[in-house]
Amino acid sequence: MRWFITLLLVGGTLFAGTGGMNPVQGESPENIIQAGFAQMDITPDTKAAKVYIAGFGNNRVATGVHDPLFARAIVLEQPGGKKIGIVSVDLVGLFHDFTLETRKLVPELDYLVVCSTHNHNGPDTLGLWGPGFGRSGVDKAYVRSIQNRIPNLIREAMADRKPCKVVAAKAAAPELLRDGRLPDIKHEDLVVLRFDEIKSGKTHGFLLQWNNHPETVDSNGTLITADFPTPALETMAKRLGCKGIYLTGTVGGLMTTIGVKVKDKAGKELALKTFETMNRLGELLGEKALGALKEAKGVSISQLEYRSKIVHFPVENKGYQAFFKLGAFNRKAFVETGKGQFESIQPADSGDRKFWMQSEVGWIGLGDAEFFLVPGEIYPELVLGKYQDPVEPGADFPEAPLEKSLFSMSKAKWKMTVGLANDEVGYIIPKRQWDEKAPFCYGREKSQYGEINSLGNETAPRLSEAFRELLAK
Ligand SMILES: [Zn+2]
Repeated sequence: MRWFITLLLVGGTLFAGTGGMNPVQGESPENIIQAGFAQMDITPDTKAAKVYIAGFGNNRVATGVHDPLFARAIVLEQPGGKKIGIVSVDLVGLFHDFTLETRKLVPELDYLVVCSTHNHNGPDTLGLWGPGFGRSGVDKAYVRSIQNRIPNLIREAMADRKPCKVVAAKAAAPELLRDGRLPDIKHEDLVVLRFDEIKSGKTHGFLLQWNNHPETVDSNGTLITADFPTPALETMAKRLGCKGIYLTGTVGGLMTTIGVKVKDKAGKELALKTFETMNRLGELLGEKALGALKEAKGVSISQLEYRSKIVHFPVENKGYQAFFKLGAFNRKAFVETGKGQFESIQPADSGDRKFWMQSEVGWIGLGDAEFFLVPGEIYPELVLGKYQDPVEPGADFPEAPLEKSLFSMSKAKWKMTVGLANDEVGYIIPKRQWDEKAPFCYGREKSQYGEINSLGNETAPRLSEAFRELLAK
């Protein structure tokens, strides 16, 4: 018999002064934020060049487009304060190097976040899904074209800015989500923010954050699709009469749409792995968010602020080391030159030195709504603190300390994970759950899926510690 505890950690009180205690006064000046929205089509041309579809096996070549891919942006500015932009792309992921380069193109922003929905039926943008193992499927010209168009997208969002007050709502959607890996711990809550224009009272835009892999149609298809986020946003946009943005959150551990059964409006169960199911799942998610908004509460915005911090992760994964050596990864490799000192290196010159990845953790505070910017696919335990206790026999590191969970580091009312934010380093697995060596957990004959797409067992402790340092002052 297993049971689960939520870790309550002492010392988690942070962000005094971000307004959590203040009563909400929608029209008072400190509760006004300038918000602007924009979107652009980033669908690859499947006729002009071979498009390798990301997310599952190698050599899946696109034969057409089911629905377009988008980059969606929100820009936030407090009058006289910081300007922050978030761009969410319907892609499998983009590396930190992409974010760093893109920031140089938008100097008008104090901070830019580039995050991916982690779409599993879009083009390979990481280099893992080309014609064969170790062969990249990335069309560099396509990736560069997205980067070159982001400044214009941001400018459009800036031009769209209107003074708004913000309301927020939360709802659990466990019926739209499966956990594909034991233990069964889900991050099932969606959070929705609605930006209402001060002058007219009209809704100007919205933000939907949820935690699931966009992979409803699974690995069978060869048509490009953005999966459930698009029908979710469209359902909401139709009702609210404005643009929105979807942010992917906690997707590790493994939050998946595969195997989730949904019914159509007439109550008929739809076949799995179909576009029908994908659209319906999105529609149901959008309706859930709209339902939650009926009970929306005002967000107290005392200050719009951000923090970010560079972090380094050792690349223990043998496959990833090979990817670096083969030049498939479209990112810089780093080696450690001294304690906590790193420099970038040509992978061919590394000798037998271990590779590291340079990445970033970040945080945005919008009063009592906060975004935790996680550079990969984080497991729900690391966000919510719901660790299995006692530890599963068979775990490789049963004595490893439990990582301090992200949400325990904040007292904000509305907490959101933004996964694949500014980077994609793969799965971020609690160290106590690491299970590469026999005997395996849950009486299994082989390891569960997860470790093979993780940098290593040090990623989670280092990430948690980096957030603790980031939010400590
Ligand atoms: Zn994934």
